[in-house]
Order: sequence, then structure tokens, then C-alpha cells
Amino acid sequence: MPTLSDHFRRCIAADGPIPLARYMEDALGHPRLGYYMGKDPFGRDGDFITAPEISQMFGELIGLWCGVRWRAMGEADPFNLIELGPGRGTCMADMLRAGRGVDGFLESLTLSMVEISPALKGAQEETLLNASGAEVRRARALQWISDFSEVPEGPFVAVANEFLDALAIHQFQMTAQGWRERLVGVSDTATNEFQFVLSDTPPEAGVVPTGLEDAKAGDIIELRPAATALVRDMAARLNRHPGCVLFIDYGHERTACGDTLQAVKQHEYHNPLTDPGSADLTAHVEFGTLRKAAADAGAVVFGPVTQGAFLKSLGIEARAETLAQASPAHAREIDQALARLISDEGMGTLFKVMALTSPGLAPPPGFE
Ligand code: SAH
Repeated sequence: MPTLSDHFRRCIAADGPIPLARYMEDALGHPRLGYYMGKDPFGRDGDFITAPEISQMFGELIGLWCGVRWRAMGEADPFNLIELGPGRGTCMADMLRAGRGVDGFLESLTLSMVEISPALKGAQEETLLNASGAEVRRARALQWISDFSEVPEGPFVAVANEFLDALAIHQFQMTAQGWRERLVGVSDTATNEFQFVLSDTPPEAGVVPTGLEDAKAGDIIELRPAATALVRDMAARLNRHPGCVLFIDYGHERTACGDTLQAVKQHEYHNPLTDPGSADLTAHVEFGTLRKAAADAGAVVFGPVTQGAFLKSLGIEARAETLAQASPAHAREIDQALARLISDEGMGTLFKVMALTSPGLAPPPGFE
């Protein structure tokens, strides 16, 4: 069976080196051979662990956040609860369980799961129908779609944890001739391994943002047009209907130079250009760019704040104590999970949280 490497070698032989974004998009999302297509990459036995897989507290607090936002939107009925890139469905299951505590919330909602991977869609179905059967039966509807644009028009709350980092990036490198796009080509040795090459021609005017005039030869910048376009679509919808969006991801606030592309396989770093499709491929999210795109398109933006500050402000420490008291045998585990989620050594500082809301709504919790 041809591998993804064969597929890329064929494309490069036919048309020349391909943009990194095209490589990343196919490495993750190629319909048959992409990383997310065939398997479940999460957990101890998988390649990496995400916040909802570390502890139920994460999804519970996000679920309550959604409930509070739904109230701020005048308890809209019906309304869309959306998760982008729901992984195993663990976060949504914890969110729905927490949502039981908010009167009328479950009964009003239409659930939309935005997912491109058939394997993960299967895992999500299993989680929601088993662990959350009772909550799902109270909801108006449950559907899977592959793009935010397919969500029915109307009031909405959307959540995306570690979704943006999986969207493809373009990289540009400064040279003596100016910016040049970084492309993926093959070496002319017998092994034909993949390697970065620079485009011969400059990017089209306006592609590289202004404000990077200090860049030195060798500096790299990253652009993620798919994320910017998504944020603009969301902002436009926030102007048509009351709603809000919560993004949680690893990344930085300021637009700066740097190569952050990374591949992770079985909890170890891996060369992004080796054996595409076998490892997760991500890059830091640039929140500053997204904040500006959202604000320019008319959304009200909160944050980014650190994940540690956000979760503490939502009361994660008190929740951990309650859980530990209810189950003393697990107190140590709960404490470790808490530290992992909020400490500087864990995910507390690297991960950031940013919210977009419709104009005129009360500010969301967690950003004071
Ligand atoms: N939110 C989950 C999973 C994060 S991994 C968690 O925290 O555990 C990224 C998720 O986004 C996976 O479910 C992956 O299949 C999905 N995904 C990646 N690219 C996507 C795209 N372009 N459209 C929809 N889903 C995508």
C-alpha cells in the first residue's frame, strides 16, 4: 500500500517542492493516510495527553463556563453547543455532566461536533452514547460535521481545545533577497528524504504582515490562514447571533519570529519531515494575530490569559479539594492532575485561553 511519503514524493516529482502548509494538512488530514484518520492518538499509550484526558475537572469547568454563557445570552432556546476537534469526546462528556446543574441548559441545546477523522468520530460517538446517554437524550439533537460553517445559524457557544494548533501553517524565512516561503522538497541522495527548501520567488504582496521589518536573515515567521479565516467567520456569526467562543491552546500572544513546528510520537519529539502521517504535527498558536482578526471583524475579545489563571479563576482548586474529599484514595492523583493543568512547569503558562463574544454581552468568567 502506498504511504504518505510515497504520495508526497509523487507530488513533489510532478510539481516541485510543496508549501509546508500543504505537507502539514495532508500529514494530519489526508482522507486515508493522515495522522488523525486511522487511530486514536491520545492517552498514555498514544502519542500525547491533552487537558481533558488528564482530569475530568477540565471539561467540567468548561461545561459550567458554557452554562453561564448560555444564561448571559438570555437562555437562548434552541442554541448550538459546538466543539471543534473533540478528540475522544472526553471533554464534551464532562461538559454535559456539569451542564446538568444548569436548569434548562441540556434541553435547549443542539450539539455539533466538528471533526474530520472517522476514527475519532467513532470514539466520540461511543463516549457520548455510553457515558453521556442520559444527557444526550435530554438535548434537542446531536450531529457530526466537518466544518464550523455547517453549524446551523443561531445562538451558539463553541469550544476548541488544542484544535488551532493542528491547523496547517505556512513558514517564511528572511533571506538577503527578502522573505521566501519554506517548502518541502526531497534530497537528491539515494534515500530521497524530505528536506526544507526555499521558494525562488517572493511571496505575493500582503502575504507577510507588516511590523516584522527588524527580521534578520535566517529568521522564520509562521502564518496560519486557516485559523485567521475561522476566527473571521466566527466573528461574523457573533454579529448575527448572540454567542461566544472559547479557544484553549499552547502558544504565545505576540507576533514574533521563530520556528515552532513540532512532531510528537509516543510522547517523544520526532523529526517533522520523517515518516509523515506517523506523528502528530503542530505549531504554536499566535493569539495576537487571531485577536486582531476577531476584533477587526467585530467580535469582543477577552484574553489571552494563561490556562493556569483561567482555571484558577473558575475555581479548579476548590473542585479538586471536593473531589479529593469524596475519594481520599485518589487524593494524590487529583493533586497531580491539578498541578499538571495549572502549574508553570505543567500546562499552566504555556497554554493560553482566549474568548470571543458578541457585542453587548456580559464579560465571560475567567478573564478578570
Ligand atoms: N480537543 C481534544 C483533541 C485535540 S487533538 C482534546 O483536547 O483531547 C485535535 C482534534 O482536532 C482531533 O480530534 C482531530 O481529529 C481534530 N481535527 C484536526 N484538524 C481538524 C480540522 N481541520 N477540522 C476538524 N477537526 C480537526
